[in-house]
Amino acid sequence: MRYSQLLIPTLKEAPSDAEVISHKLMVRAGMIRQLASGIYSILPLGLRVLRKVEQIIREEMNAIGGQEVFLPSIQPAELWQESGRWDFYGKELLRIIDRHDRKFCYGPTHEEVITDIVRREVRSYRQLPLVLYQIQTKFRDEVRPRFGVMRGREFTMKDAYSFHASEQDVQKTYEDMKTAYNNVFKRCGLDFKMVEADSGTIGGSFSHEFMVLASSGEDAVVFCDACGYASNLEKAGARPPANGTGSDGSEPLAEVSTPGQKTIEAVTTFLKVPPQKLVKTLILENEKGLVAGLVRGDRQLNPVKLKNLIDCEWLHPASEESIKEQTGLPVGYVGPVNLPLPVFADHEVAAMQDFVTGANKTDAHFTGVQFGRDLQVEQVGDLRTVEEGDPCPHCDGGTYQIRRGIEVGHIFILGTKYSTAMKAGFLDENGKEKTLVMGCYGIGVGRTAAAAIEQNHDDKGIVWPAPLAPFQVVILPTNYSDEKVKDAADTAYRRLTELGVEVLLDDRSDRLGVKFKDAELIGFPLQLVIGPKNLEQGEIEVKTRRTGESANHPFPAILEKIP
Ligand code: ATP
Ligand code: MG
Ligand code: MG
Ligand code: MG
Repeated sequence: MRYSQLLIPTLKEAPSDAEVISHKLMVRAGMIRQLASGIYSILPLGLRVLRKVEQIIREEMNAIGGQEVFLPSIQPAELWQESGRWDFYGKELLRIIDRHDRKFCYGPTHEEVITDIVRREVRSYRQLPLVLYQIQTKFRDEVRPRFGVMRGREFTMKDAYSFHASEQDVQKTYEDMKTAYNNVFKRCGLDFKMVEADSGTIGGSFSHEFMVLASSGEDAVVFCDACGYASNLEKAGARPPANGTGSDGSEPLAEVSTPGQKTIEAVTTFLKVPPQKLVKTLILENEKGLVAGLVRGDRQLNPVKLKNLIDCEWLHPASEESIKEQTGLPVGYVGPVNLPLPVFADHEVAAMQDFVTGANKTDAHFTGVQFGRDLQVEQVGDLRTVEEGDPCPHCDGGTYQIRRGIEVGHIFILGTKYSTAMKAGFLDENGKEKTLVMGCYGIGVGRTAAAAIEQNHDDKGIVWPAPLAPFQVVILPTNYSDEKVKDAADTAYRRLTELGVEVLLDDRSDRLGVKFKDAELIGFPLQLVIGPKNLEQGEIEVKTRRTGESANHPFPAILEKIP
């Protein structure tokens, strides 16, 4: 491709709201432009990169027997009502009404749609296991879209779903997925960890997140180099879930946003931690403004409850029933996202006063809570702290390390949650009706590309891992209007194209300095600098973006050895 014909609107300055380096560089390199909060247009260079990520994912999904599908992004409310998620998914679900007053949503995920297909089309154990995946646009109305495509509202996800005759069988596919995900992120050139994530009472480790290690990460990863154990912070600090609690594989219901001042004061005073340590405070918002939440201090998991909350509205039916029914009061536990907490015992519930917050299970949160008069904070349960250097509980002599991480992928065994709710069954070998066992597996495509930039950049710009680079090689003629230089540059361009190398010819009339700056900013792995002096010696200069090393090589012979 010729630079002059491509839309590559590079910028000197990053937008003022860009907080992390990948967001800044993706905008500056002309890869993306914001249309509205959390909604981005992907420009030609950006799309080339996303397609690379997608292709890698596709190959790895196909390698484990995945079949690609493409499901509608607009989904009817009825399916979500059937699964029970219409009422408690919360505000992340973008709801739409059509001209006939029918309710729809823009899919934030596709468990309902895929389960609906499979319950209609799959009848027999002979058709199992079945692994279906798609690469598609999702919409989640994130409270705090930020970091560019890393936490967008509209974003591309690869989501896969598997269907099985038994628990043992889903385990097998789960293991295949682990391998495939490890391959994907390795091939993307990322430094990442597969970590155990909360799996509640399903037992065992049935949820894993893939975390790219980066200081800008919103999550934290705990790991031990001695034994290789790795988990997310919630899991490492979590108390063992009590009976009847735990994650059921539902989408996180909570929304994370900046805590209100009043909450920060109440909570930090109580916990005696500086406000900046409240890294992931669960705060839910409603129309009235403030709401309630709690509280994870940096590297600490602090189960506390906030008193004097009014107007709660439950997001999770199970918790709603179990507590509201017994008390007739709007009560709920205020707890860190994903931290399994025990359901209150009957006597505890009975002892609750008006407006006291209650207990609950993973991912069960409430919304619409307003602070009443005097907000009080009260600790429930042990204060849990996971610190760097803590002895690793999984081996002898190892110690915990803690790093920030970006969640690029998440795999989960769902069991029969959706298939039971939606009556998705099959006939087993004996002709008996059984319920399908499911797994689900997601990767953020844009987030993976952004995470690669977080790990691969310098003060000049992006340093693409070769497999994700929009072009492997850029040809930089020092002066494209010089006949000899132009000839050589065109020759190089033609030959490399013949050889199947993805090459961009910077045929613009700009000064070499401008072209260099853009090439460094965009981060092509290899630059071929073609100038009159070197050409007279029968040479061109080949420069490696990552190391900055450059050397002269005989031209055109060197072309046969590129990249
Ligand atoms: P997060 O904890 O960051 O909100 P999640 O746990 O809600 O992510 P999943 O439901 O596990 O996300 O979705 C699978 C993958 O989709 C995530 O691992 C991530 O890579 C990607 N993803 C989720 N939300 C977003 C978003 N708002 N923007 C871009 N990618 C996202
Ligand atoms: Mg989320
Ligand atoms: Mg998450
Ligand atoms: Mg997740």
